[in-house]
Amino acid sequence: MVLGPFKGGREGKTAAMVARTPSTFEIRTDLFTVENRKMSDGVQTQQTADFDALAVKNFREYLRIPSVHPNINYDDCIKFLEGQAIGMGLPYKVYHTAATKPVFIMTWEGTEPNAPSVMLNSHMDVVPVFEENWTHKPFGAEMDADGKIYARGAQDMKCVGIQYLETIRRLKTTGIRLKRTIHCIFVPDEEMGGIEGMRRFVKTDFFKSLNVGFALDEGMTSETDEFLLYYGERTVWTVVFRCPGQTGHGSLLLDNTAAEKMRHLLDRIYDFREKEKQKLENNPEMTIGDVTTVNVTIMQGGVQSNVLPAEFVVTMDCRIPVTVDHEKWFETLQRWCKEAGKDVAMENRPLAPLVQPTKLDESNKYWMTFKSTIDKLGLKMTPRIFPGGTDSRYLRQLGIPALGFSPINNTPVLLHDDDEYLNADVFLKGIEIYCKLVSAISNVDSD
Ligand SMILES: [Zn+2]
Repeated sequence: MVLGPFKGGREGKTAAMVARTPSTFEIRTDLFTVENRKMSDGVQTQQTADFDALAVKNFREYLRIPSVHPNINYDDCIKFLEGQAIGMGLPYKVYHTAATKPVFIMTWEGTEPNAPSVMLNSHMDVVPVFEENWTHKPFGAEMDADGKIYARGAQDMKCVGIQYLETIRRLKTTGIRLKRTIHCIFVPDEEMGGIEGMRRFVKTDFFKSLNVGFALDEGMTSETDEFLLYYGERTVWTVVFRCPGQTGHGSLLLDNTAAEKMRHLLDRIYDFREKEKQKLENNPEMTIGDVTTVNVTIMQGGVQSNVLPAEFVVTMDCRIPVTVDHEKWFETLQRWCKEAGKDVAMENRPLAPLVQPTKLDESNKYWMTFKSTIDKLGLKMTPRIFPGGTDSRYLRQLGIPALGFSPINNTPVLLHDDDEYLNADVFLKGIEIYCKLVSAISNVDSD
């Protein structure tokens, strides 16, 4: 269902106008170190300072919208994003994949509008917080004396959403036009597996009409100098094992009980887990994205302490690396069931079919441009397989090359964690990186 026509074209206040009105927001620019945030000509201009102030203001405002699971109302996110698009004079659309699941699409048309477009994707939702563990309000976006901005979503991934917007604002203000059309897309429910978000969205005619040729999406925070680049993901595979058994009195030693079967199953699972753990620990070249992880996450069953249950149910979270054959893995699971005892069965298959990683070679001109831009900026970057799942998999499934990149380095990994924060300096540096990346990628030749 498409709601609302393309709006936009109305000129709002320009960035500079807004930013030069100090009374409209509180910002402590005095707290930033500017050395690393100079424009390429080495001059920290008034305009740069204004852009930076506006970017931080927008970031904090977006963080203050509690788009937190469960039962998210995305209205305030959409209202905020509409304001941004109108302010930049760019057309936008709100597409609903379900009644309460809006996708926001802001478009900057290129000089070659028929060429495959560039998609800048971010998700609006954030995971719940354990507020008692936080030293700052999780939706306060407070900034401390070091410039650290605390809020749920500061790293995952409201930062990236705002960085895209500020990148487009800056590029557009310079008066340049890029070849390819850019679609800046904000999706709901990524943290729920994108089931009602991206997974649905990519199947629509509307998505097809966007003619996406390449996508940037979220990556991961790096604790060192180097940036991390994700070109593939493990497959998320949830398995529910059912162990039926003889019922009866808890005082006897009956055969064929549910718990005995479950014990066999747990032995298999945790022996396997130990082997994968060893593999990872013994090979410094490997990261968590290169091994299969298995974890029992739910155990269910039992009615009363002196009654043998008819069934125990065990749910296991598995993540399969791109190097593992899915059929072979399926056979392994079947073997475990068989070995566990009579009538042990499993349900569920992977949430997504095997998805090929995005190629990082000369056949991928977007990657070649991405890489050379990062090299020119003198940044260190390591390609990896993502340990969890992101919406990129739905794009890769369609054959769209997608790279996961969050320009966050020298920062503790606090995605989904207490006291999630991002330093304003790192955030602003990220916008400069995107300015170079997005302009280079959007100018990639279309033939
Ligand atoms: Zn995320």
